[in-house]
Amino acid sequence: MLRDSDDLSWYARKAALALTPGRESADDGLPRRLERLLLRLRAAGVKGDASTMTLFTRRLPPGCRPCLAGRGTNLYATGLCTRDCFFCFNQKPRKDELVVHGIGVKTPEQAAEIVERYGLRSVGISGGEPLLFAQRVLDIVRVLRALPRRVTIDLYTNGDRADEPTLRALRQAGLDGIRFDLAARDYDTSPVERALAFFQDVTVEIPAVPRDVERQRRMIGELDELGVPFLNLHELFVSPENAQRMKAEGYEAVDGGHERLLWQPVPESAEAALELLVYACEKARTLSVYYCSCGTQDAISRRGLAWRRRALARP
Ligand code: SF4
Repeated sequence: MLRDSDDLSWYARKAALALTPGRESADDGLPRRLERLLLRLRAAGVKGDASTMTLFTRRLPPGCRPCLAGRGTNLYATGLCTRDCFFCFNQKPRKDELVVHGIGVKTPEQAAEIVERYGLRSVGISGGEPLLFAQRVLDIVRVLRALPRRVTIDLYTNGDRADEPTLRALRQAGLDGIRFDLAARDYDTSPVERALAFFQDVTVEIPAVPRDVERQRRMIGELDELGVPFLNLHELFVSPENAQRMKAEGYEAVDGGHERLLWQPVPESAEAALELLVYACEKARTLSVYYCSCGTQDAISRRGLAWRRRALARP
């Protein structure tokens, strides 16, 4: 549960953030609206840590726990994709490359060796769209599953290539959970429905897009109806890779004060995320909704860096 001291520091920071000097169209009403939303969330029993804006309604997806402790990593399976989302933060031109824990590798075996060397406990296979290369993803899952220490393995996909045979093969190879970015495909839940037949740990993971709040609310209802266990919301952010397109869509960032991040939040996205959390608290019967904000990601980076230093110092 939130503590009063957390709430107060949270209000102060969000107010400062929304009114950052130099921001041309600062929204003076935003701090008050955020404050009211947080009070509603507190009344509804939201859990988490307000100081980093890490809030959730019921429980966290299994792969998020080691990640929050700084013991997770990202395995970038390719930069190529089937989509071109305006919020995408991948490098352009896109490259077909394999990168794990920020280190470029040539083979799944080399990737697994890095996961083992740093003592990592959860791996998110992402891209681009990893299932453009389904056999590569299967090989990665198998070598990770064969490691002596158990790691939680999740796959991030937009769902375009998530047909039944692929989902079955991923399950058989030992994938733990699958996460769908439905914002990439107009909130079409059909790949999620298919995945529920093969995985218990099915998560929808999307940015909280202010102009889409109504559609995202409707999606929450649909996911709850389907029995999807998890929805993760991200704060929409601006990075050098997406800045031009974000601006064209009317989204600009402010300095969020996140020391370890190379990106900055769009302040209206925090409001959208809190509105969606309130809606989930009040309406969803079983769906758990988690807000992984830029503040959360900054805290994860700090913990991950500390863990990496300790791992490198070990003989
Ligand atoms: S689906 Fe993901 S990787 Fe592909 S364009 Fe959209 S955000 Fe980028």
